[in-house]
Amino acid sequence: MLRNLCLAMLLILAPTSAYAARLKVVATFSVLGDIVSNVGGDNIELTTLVGPNADAHSYEPTPDAVKAIGNADLVIVNGLGFEGWMGRLIASSGYSGPVIVAAKEVTSLNVGEKLEMDPHAWQSVTNVINYTGAIRDALNDADRGHSAKYKENAETYIRKLNELESWIQEQVASVPEGQRAVITTHDAFRYFGRYYGVRFLAPAGITNESSPSAADMAHIESLMRAQKIRAIFFENVSDDKIIKQLQQDSGAYIGGTLYSDALSPPTGPAPTYISMMKHNVAALVEGMKQNTPAPDPTEAPVNK
Ligand SMILES: [Zn+2]
Repeated sequence: MLRNLCLAMLLILAPTSAYAARLKVVATFSVLGDIVSNVGGDNIELTTLVGPNADAHSYEPTPDAVKAIGNADLVIVNGLGFEGWMGRLIASSGYSGPVIVAAKEVTSLNVGEKLEMDPHAWQSVTNVINYTGAIRDALNDADRGHSAKYKENAETYIRKLNELESWIQEQVASVPEGQRAVITTHDAFRYFGRYYGVRFLAPAGITNESSPSAADMAHIESLMRAQKIRAIFFENVSDDKIIKQLQQDSGAYIGGTLYSDALSPPTGPAPTYISMMKHNVAALVEGMKQNTPAPDPTEAPVNK
């Protein structure tokens, strides 16, 4: 009787959140949010700051974002300089819990004279397998009670990612090596290029902020001619203007829209990381098959 009473009092005194509430996790953008959701499953309550089709490079934090971080148990970021706005956001939220960098074990590619880190590491599935391990460990540290579940979820997801990786390699291999080149708006596919052997040219650089100059555009157009590239793509987070201009100037083949830094909404073709990669690869392969030398009018056979 006394023992039962003590137990009841203990339950009353214990913070109810430890029993009832799920782990509150904030992920910075939609691609990362999907990966976190695959590992966390039903055991977490996930808030994603930068949603579908939105550009995290130019994101401006909202009052809701400040509130979500203020209430979080765990914050997960991409890292590699992607979320330049995160430091200020965390400071204004008063959050003092763990901030986990999903890409912490990834070997970064560096760009430009200042060797800036290229943040778009999720465009390689190998890197996302790495992210998955970091996320599993972070959830495990923050919520030991569900360790087994996080481990199991991560294993299941990594199995799917390995299948995706093999599929991508087969798809790219179906395009003759000399034709594996593509134009996109901003430089989000350098990891994809490095891991799967595709050349990407992008007039708007890695931050998607600068508008390319007329000279940059002319340079890209001359590269397209020299390298016989006809495949050009819109991106869901970029202005279509640049690609439309290239299409007008060069008569290139528009291969549709690539999902670079954000997923599509649930009803679109790329609502998860895996579906995003499948959509992009199918479009890229189709586009690259158009990279055949354009007929040169000066070499047309003369009819006798
Ligand atoms: Zn980007």
